[in-house]
Amino acid sequence: MTTTYKEEKKCAVCGNTSKHTGIISTNAFGSPDLDTRPPQMKRSTIDMWIQTCPSCGYCAPDISEQIEKSSEVVRSDSYQRQLNNPEFPKLANAFLCFSLIQESAGEYARAGWACIHAAWSCDDDGSDAAAQKCRMKAVTLFQRAKENGQRFAEQAGAEEALMVDLLRRSGQFELAIRTCDDGLKKKARENYLRYFAISENTY
Ligand SMILES: [Zn+2]
Repeated sequence: MTTTYKEEKKCAVCGNTSKHTGIISTNAFGSPDLDTRPPQMKRSTIDMWIQTCPSCGYCAPDISEQIEKSSEVVRSDSYQRQLNNPEFPKLANAFLCFSLIQESAGEYARAGWACIHAAWSCDDDGSDAAAQKCRMKAVTLFQRAKENGQRFAEQAGAEEALMVDLLRRSGQFELAIRTCDDGLKKKARENYLRYFAISENTY
């Protein structure tokens, strides 16, 4: 069961207050999807993972907290266009706006994850084309994360697995296969190095 509470939040960008729903507790039974999407009940709490200020449109997990450069980004035309983009469901726009803020702050891994959450909300809405676009954005942002030395998954091999899943689900099959091959080569090289490390220790 999921339990929630209502809370008044003062927007860190415009200072206006609005009411939002927070999660006290939830649960997850079963396995997550390949791209880590949790099973129910947590799966259905996605609309509570992001808040939108009804006055200025600031989107963040907690709009009372300021994020670097957020005031500037929220007031930009590209942000306001994304907030009201009719190509995406409302919830996806909120995650995509949060992604823009994180991208401006140079937090590419977080920006990529916001795009994955946007894709999940498109999946729920049955908006396949919109979901594909979100996953393509996530791929670009995760590539930038890598270039900037930011990790976007903790476990070994998880980044490659996530990337392959994103590429597959955004229809970029050739790139998905290439990424898969590179991942396997990396794994083979790690095993090879480990074997020699063990051999050296043995003698
Ligand atoms: Zn605001």
